Amino acid sequence: MGDVMAKINLPKRIKVGGVTYTVIYSTFPVNSEIDGFHSYNELLIKVNINKQYNLQYILYNFLHEIFHAIDAVYMNKVFTEHSIFLLSKAWYHFIFYNNFTFNNYSLPKFLYIFTTLYKITYSDKLGTYDLHLNDIEFSFSEAELRVSTISNDTKFSKEILQVNLIEAIILGMIKEYNFSNHEDFEDINTTILSNGIYQVFKDNELDIVIRSALKQ
Ligand SMILES: [Zn+2]
Repeated sequence: MGDVMAKINLPKRIKVGGVTYTVIYSTFPVNSEIDGFHSYNELLIKVNINKQYNLQYILYNFLHEIFHAIDAVYMNKVFTEHSIFLLSKAWYHFIFYNNFTFNNYSLPKFLYIFTTLYKITYSDKLGTYDLHLNDIEFSFSEAELRVSTISNDTKFSKEILQVNLIEAIILGMIKEYNFSNHEDFEDINTTILSNGIYQVFKDNELDIVIRSALKQ
């Protein structure tokens, strides 16, 4: 075990939908060209904890491999390596720059996506913004995300509102990080992706795990 791992506490098991991955932290061979490994068949993730590496780089790699797992379990492996890189970088930044917590159903009024501070509104009247999906709207020009509080006269639970907020955040990331320059973001189902991200972050308290590691 490297020096870094002596100080931080990362999970050895990660629940991804209906399956549980084993996570191994080890020092990869010196000439290794990769710093992480994911296998859906073996339900195995490995993270390189070379002691030369700084903590943020190790945490980023940990999250990167989890996004490979989310892609495999929820998305049937639609993403290229570069898209996994963009997604995991965007979510790593998101956790780093916001206090958002997945477990307490909080509904923040402002959130950073990349370097832009977005206003979040929760409304029972949607339908006028740049990009309108059923329950969310995203405006790049106004830096605003809107989340619908109601569908067919039924009020959404706080949990559903948070899942819908995650989807709105993904729309923001697609724009802020230029995901749309990469083909595999053209046809992705952002509803399934946001459900996967929500469930995995919540089940494994990834926001708490990463933030508490950063405080060490
Ligand atoms: Zn990768």
